[in-house]
Amino acid sequence: MRLKELGEFGLIDRIARQVHNSPAVVLGIGDDAAALLPTPGTLTLITSDMLLEGVHFDLNFCDPQSLGRKSLSVNLSDLAAMGARPRQFLLSIALPKTISLEFVDGFMAGIMEQAERFGVTLVGGDTCASLGGLAISITALGEQLPELVAKRSGAAVGDLVCLTGTVGDAAAGLNALRKGVRQGFLVGRQLDPQPRVAAGVALAEAGLVSAMIDVSDGVLGDLTHICELSGVGARLELGGLPLSDEYRAACSADPYALALSGGEDYELLFCIAKGKSLEAEKLLKTLSLRFSVIGEIIEGSAVQLIAPGGTAYQPEQRGFDHFG
Ligand code: ADP
Ligand code: MG
Repeated sequence: MRLKELGEFGLIDRIARQVHNSPAVVLGIGDDAAALLPTPGTLTLITSDMLLEGVHFDLNFCDPQSLGRKSLSVNLSDLAAMGARPRQFLLSIALPKTISLEFVDGFMAGIMEQAERFGVTLVGGDTCASLGGLAISITALGEQLPELVAKRSGAAVGDLVCLTGTVGDAAAGLNALRKGVRQGFLVGRQLDPQPRVAAGVALAEAGLVSAMIDVSDGVLGDLTHICELSGVGARLELGGLPLSDEYRAACSADPYALALSGGEDYELLFCIAKGKSLEAEKLLKTLSLRFSVIGEIIEGSAVQLIAPGGTAYQPEQRGFDHFG
């Protein structure tokens, strides 16, 4: 069957049949709006991310399943950065009329696979035809107790600046894709990032973080966001940046440029009081995640970059900006 024969409502039906409702969903797909039962005492955290063909993804590079997983992952990453437990999501899609049903099915399979992995329920959305490319917009909802929500604004002078995982991989993966490479670790980090939901929730619920953000725009840009909202500066030791072997091999000429400004790694960048770093390291170890201290929060408003040896490092680019 083709998308045209299935039609808008046939497609929505096809999507709805894949959803397993949860007790918190009083009304899911099918009515004019979904009705949800929040966990008493919690705040609802809500976030939205749009993925546009030609801007955020290239259909020559990605398979539909990975695109589906990534569309949800980038939203779950924002919830993770707040320390929120992800609960539900809405999916709005604009599909070019020429798109195959096979592609849509693959895309939905990717979305549903990631939804099941992270225990989130699809509760609604919107479906329309696009006269341009494929457009995907997901809105995700999560919950957390008010006092445990991790904001960008809580970093204090003397806190350590820390990271989960490794950085620069996704940007190096994009460069590799542009050169014709189609698989491998770096490409996987670009096309199929895994949001650090368990880590974000655990760090927040253990009361360890003073501020947290997910690395979507690059370490330098995202640390700058924390500094601006916290009214502080930071000193970043480039020698402490966690880099994968694959990244080091691909970026041997300048190992810092992409790690600082590349973005899309969806690791967590967080600040903790000095005395709590061992506890954070232990906690991340139980999740099989690397923990690195990359700097310190200082007075002022600038992010200083210190290369190994103690000299100042001047980056070419300070972060990703859609209009920059
Ligand atoms: P309306 O015209 O009242 O906005 P729609 O016909 O757009 O309603 O949607 C009907 C139902 O299907 C709604 O519950 C809506 O949330 C759901 N829905 C539409 N598109 C999607 C989608 N892509 N994914 C999940 N649910 C969807
Ligand atoms: Mg609608």
